[in-house]
Amino acid sequence: MSLAPAVRRVQPDILPTHVPGSRARFDEAVRLVGMAALWLSLLLVTYWWVAGGGLSELTDAEQALTSLGRETGLVASVLLLAQVVLMARVPWLEQAYGQDRLARIHRVVGFTSFNLMIAHVVLITWGYAAADLLATPGMFWYLTTDYPGILLADAGTLALILVVVTSMKFARRRTRYETWHLLHLYAYLGAGLALPHQLWTGQELLASTARTVFWWGWWIAGAAAVLIWRVALPLYRTLRHRMVVTSVVREPAGPGEWLVSVYLAGRHMDRMPVQAGQFFSLRFLSGKGWSRAHPYSLSAAPDGHSLRFTVKVEGDGGRAIAALRPGTKVLIEGPYGRLSARPRTQRKVLLMGAGVGITPLRALAEGLAYAPGEAILVQRCTQAPLFARELEVLSAERGLQVLTLTGRRRGDDSWLPAGVGAVDDVSALLAWVPDLPERDLYLCGPDAWVGRVREVALQAGLPESQIHLETFRW
Ligand SMILES: Cc1cc2nc3c(=O)[nH]c(=O)nc-3n(C[C@H](O)[C@H](O)[C@H](O)COP(=O)(O)OP(=O)(O)OC[C@H]3O[C@@H](n4cnc5c(N)ncnc54)[C@H](O)[C@@H]3O)c2cc1C
Repeated sequence: MSLAPAVRRVQPDILPTHVPGSRARFDEAVRLVGMAALWLSLLLVTYWWVAGGGLSELTDAEQALTSLGRETGLVASVLLLAQVVLMARVPWLEQAYGQDRLARIHRVVGFTSFNLMIAHVVLITWGYAAADLLATPGMFWYLTTDYPGILLADAGTLALILVVVTSMKFARRRTRYETWHLLHLYAYLGAGLALPHQLWTGQELLASTARTVFWWGWWIAGAAAVLIWRVALPLYRTLRHRMVVTSVVREPAGPGEWLVSVYLAGRHMDRMPVQAGQFFSLRFLSGKGWSRAHPYSLSAAPDGHSLRFTVKVEGDGGRAIAALRPGTKVLIEGPYGRLSARPRTQRKVLLMGAGVGITPLRALAEGLAYAPGEAILVQRCTQAPLFARELEVLSAERGLQVLTLTGRRRGDDSWLPAGVGAVDDVSALLAWVPDLPERDLYLCGPDAWVGRVREVALQAGLPESQIHLETFRW
């Protein structure tokens, strides 16, 4: 059986031992330390507020307003800086959480920080207006024009209002992703413009050496994280590997579906710290729209020479990729993502993907180490399965068990296609994978489908720690 071009003899990763993976434990420790650092910071600023008389001031209306205004401002600032660190692509956080989970935490912390910031502005101004609500707008103007740094802070608040309003679901639905992403960058401006008034009027930063170290520590950590992992590292990797497009190939797909695979090659590819299943944010220097990065997962295991991505052509990003010419230069960010050998804890694996979400699992089916029969791949597709030929070869060469489930979903509350009969979701999964609890489940596809499979797997007795998932919508 001749090998399909994409199924090359790639050295799979080292088989894990039977004990839970040390990397999984390390990631767990990172999550714990991260959460502890955030909560300790919030407790510390609250302790300083109490120690500074914050609680005792609550007995007087006017003082209570300014005191609560101070506390909400302090907590909002810590959360705002945590926001910046969360989305700075810090490798340990990225690997411990995965970007989709970080994006969800980012959303909760973002809205909380914003609401507290608004409370801070209202309470402090109202308090300075001697608790006189009618005098508050006038006081706001006075603070803006007379207090150092407040005008900048107002501008920062407006930038953050813009970011938050455009991130609300009603607005996201009506805004092109690229436009939303561009507006979201104003969050950095908003955060930066808040600093001067903290220095000049807040006094908190300067009240003691400990506070100065604490606040400057957070600010420097936030700025450094963005500069190192969102700017310097992608630039370094782009210049080091100088990747270019080598070919764009149309993939066999169902009627009306358009999928292409784009192959990239470059320098020192054997030294790129990339694993099967991971994704990159790619910018192709092919003219209009080059500045827009789009995340795509590897659809074949990295072989030390080239990378392959397979793209469902839906919007302008996909169309631009389908029209790429060999030799086009690529700016890369990444690799990112938790769908790799890293969180693996078991010898046996179950790979489940729907639609174009099968791409990282196709790469894992090639890149992961497993003995014949230890890996099962379930592909859910509406029409023709993707990579059918390649999966056949992997099945013949590596003993991968492949199950293809074709057809429309039988309902929003089921992961199965219509036509599988009356069997319930859990029994169906256990019938196909009776030893499910002994496996790591790698899962990727549309949000709702991924959510349903995860639910079913948990009901079927799979521990949460053995479920590794990624969705293609943040
Ligand atoms: C981690 C990850 C891995 C992915 N891997 C693949 C893959 O291997 N193959 C594949 O076909 N698709 C993949 N996607 C989805 C792909 O990134 C989007 O379909 C693509 O960015 C859409 O852009 P467009 O211009 O073609 O379509 P548009 O019509 O502009 O966008 C369609 C939808 O895609 C989302 N989207 C658009 N631009 C971005 C962006 N820059 N970042 C994130 N989401 C965006 C938006 O929700 C938008 O509503 C992945 C997404 C993520 C988050």
